[in-house]
Parts: sequence; structure tokens; C-alpha cells
Amino acid sequence: MAFAQLGLNPFVVQAVEASGYTEPTAVQIQAIPATLEGVDLLVSSQTGSGKTAAFMLPCLHRLAEPSALPGRGPRVLVLTPTRELAQQVTRAAETYGKFLKRLRIVAAVGGAPLHVQAKLLSQPVDVVVATPGRLIDHLERGRIDFSRLETLILDEADRMLDMGFIDDIEAIIARTPQNRQTLLFSATLEGVVGRLAQRVTKNARRIEITTAPELKAKIEQRIHFADDFSHKSRLLDHLLRDTELSQALVFTATKKSADDLAVQLRGEGFSAEALHGDMNQRDRNRTLLALRQGRTRVLVATDVAARGIDVPGISHVINFDLPRQAEDYVHRIGRTGRAGREGIAISLAAHFEKRQIRDIERYTAQAIRVGVIPGLEPKARPARPEGFGDKRRTSAPRPTGGYGKGNGNGYGSKGGYGDRKAAFGEKRTSLGEKSGFGHREGTRPGSDKRSAPSGAKRRAYGNSY
Ligand code: AMP
Repeated sequence: MAFAQLGLNPFVVQAVEASGYTEPTAVQIQAIPATLEGVDLLVSSQTGSGKTAAFMLPCLHRLAEPSALPGRGPRVLVLTPTRELAQQVTRAAETYGKFLKRLRIVAAVGGAPLHVQAKLLSQPVDVVVATPGRLIDHLERGRIDFSRLETLILDEADRMLDMGFIDDIEAIIARTPQNRQTLLFSATLEGVVGRLAQRVTKNARRIEITTAPELKAKIEQRIHFADDFSHKSRLLDHLLRDTELSQALVFTATKKSADDLAVQLRGEGFSAEALHGDMNQRDRNRTLLALRQGRTRVLVATDVAARGIDVPGISHVINFDLPRQAEDYVHRIGRTGRAGREGIAISLAAHFEKRQIRDIERYTAQAIRVGVIPGLEPKARPARPEGFGDKRRTSAPRPTGGYGKGNGNGYGSKGGYGDRKAAFGEKRTSLGEKSGFGHREGTRPGSDKRSAPSGAKRRAYGNSY
């Protein structure tokens, strides 16, 4: 099927084709005509499925015609969980809307100066892409007029709830017109997401794109077992020296270990930078720009970076630490194999993490091949799971700023790999529990702080991002 057959404005089709896309993806084939019909949608689709274009193209189609209502407020509002995703959606809107006249798009995200955004929002605007906390700030200051809002999009709704944004989302929706169209995109439509969907949509049509076929076809996945931290580091060093590797995204469990590992890799001669939620927005933007421009070859990041990074040059995703939830695995590895390219996803795992690997395999419905690098083979499985942490303490060198006890990077005695329960054993099954991850953005200055989660589990996990 061609984009031209979806009933979109020719200027929008022209922009999509100029981006090099010849055929709509499965989610686009289903969601674009339905959005054009005007119905509410609940869409379950994975990252990399082309979901951004699935909602943005029909919105831009409508924006090609002037609003029937007076006013200067946005006609389209997209809410996203992270700043990076908001920026990616903003870029997509600019790209796909580049042939439309006088299209005005504003990103309202935390970390950027409030007054600059407020000024932009005081002028006529068509699309606002926002993180919930910052949008609430603008609403409280009376900066946004939703009277002519036509379409509300909740992008990665599961993650927004996961991050504790439920109250903000409800408060924002209460300010939007009743007759708006609502499009909710989420990896899952069950549980709390389903309940939110029921409250905020009307007679919504469900579109379920269960797997990301692109993932299967384009991303080669494998696992290397590591005996200890030192072995992991040597494996990483070897993998990063692969001549096929153009750029790599390396995931760690915590902000501290991302910083430490970036320092370590720079010491080994790699152009490596860290990216995590403790950095201010300017530094985050600068780091992403260096990656996009190819000046940084290795980006060491926490899961905050798993969403919203769309850099075609990323040939490899390496999980230095396994993700805590299987769905994060999909988001992480979806950072490679972007835009039709091939990608490689490699996970470094301790022997006792086989259960987490099985969870990932079950979630993705794909078996992950175990790879072995000659000369870097793992030794036999340790007798006790705790051996991983213990061994490191006796055999691995401790880098400056260190990977020591209790530093929360997963290698100390508390909350680390030695403590399987804290690190992985408590498989979070409900979104409510998972809200402990709220601090991913919780280190944001100002407005977004309101979303910082509370409670024991939140304290246990929250700050690690
Ligand atoms: P998303 O799921 O929105 O994060 O998009 C995943 C990637 O697919 C992005 O790099 C998009 O630019 C790209 N993309 C979107 N639509 C298409 C399409 N129809 N064909 C090929 N790539 C696409």
C-alpha cells in the first residue's frame, strides 16, 4: 500500500515520501484512516512500529485546513512521558509538516526556560508536544487556551502512568474540550491504562499491533554471559572495538554506573558520554546532538534514554546491565535498527540472571542466542548466585569513583546483583508498583518534581535513574 492511498493531504504525503518511507507500517495502515474518520483510538503498538507518524500524519492533514474556531491555542496536543520523546515527536511533526504553510509547533518540556516557552505559547500555535509536569505549570499560569483543541494524543500512556503522571494527566484532560478526539498509544491497554482509557475516550476503537515485526527482521539479538564485572568490562571493550560498529548505546542500571562507565570507556580511548536524568536539559540536548552528529561513538545511558532516541547511526545496543522489566528491553533495543536499517542488540548477563532472560524471551516471543567470544568465554556457572557480586569485590579493580558497596549501581552488596530480590526478584506485575520508576524524570528541576513518587519501593528504585 502507498501513503497516497490513505487519504492524506498531498503535502503531508510529499513530506513522508521525502523522508524516504515508501510504505506505511501496520499501525499506520490502521490508525491513519481511523483518525481521519474522527473516532477515538486505543492503540497498542511497540516502539519502532512507526506509531509517531501514525498519529501525527492525520493530525497534520487536518492542520492543512484552517480551524473552524477562533483562538490561538493548540489544535493538537501530544503528551509524552519524557523530554527526549517529546523532542522526537516535535522533530517528526516538523519533518512531516514541512510543506504545510505557517505550521507552528511548540515543545513544552521540563528543563527548558519556562518564560521562553510561555512566550511561544502566547502566540498562535497548532501543535503542542509536552511532558505533563511542564504543561501543568503553563496551565496554572493561564498560558494555554485549549478552546480550539481538536485532538489529544497520549503517547506511551503506560509509561506516563508508570512514572506517576496520572494526576497531571487527569488535570490536563479536565481542561480540554469534551468533544475532542482522543488517541491513546500504549504498549499495553490492560490494567490502569485500560481504566484511564475508559475514562478519557468515547466509544474508542481498539487497534492492536501485538509485536513489532520490524524488530524480528532487523535486530539481531544475542547474550554473552559474564562471570564478574571485570569480565563484563572486557566483553564490552571487545564489542566496542568491532569494526562493524558505527555507534553504540550502552545501557546501565543506574545514573552513577552510567557516569562511571563513560569515564572508564573514555580512559580506554572511546569517545564516550553519559546520558541520564540527573543531567540538566541543556547537557542532555548537547549530548544527544553530539551523538546525532557522530561526534560521540558510545553513549552510556540509563532507561531514561530508552525512549525518544532516534539516531540512525546507532548500530549496536549493548545492555551492560539487563533491564529490570522485559518491556524496557524492547524499548532499549528499539534504539537500533531504526528507519529500515539493521541493528545488533547484545546483552551482558550474569549466570544467575537466566530467569530475567527467560522473562524477556517470553515477552518478546523470541529466543535470544547465546554468543561466546573466543578468549573471553565465561567460566562455569558459579555455585552460589551471590558469587557474582562477591567475586567482583575480590578480583575486579575498583575504578575511581567506584563500583563499591551500596553505591546503587547494581554491583554493591545492597540492592545489587548479589541481592537478587532487590535487583530483579520482585517482578513487578502491576503498573502501580512499577511507578517506582517515576524518578527517571524525577530529578527534573522545578515543575516535574511534583511527580516524584513516594513509598518504599519508590525509594528503593526511584533514584537510580
Ligand atoms: P516510532 O515507532 O514512531 O518511534 O518510529 C520508528 C522509526 O520508524 C522512526 O525512525 C521513523 O522515522 C521510522 N518510520 C516511521 N514510519 C515509517 C515507514 N512508513 N517506513 C519506514 N520507516 C518509518
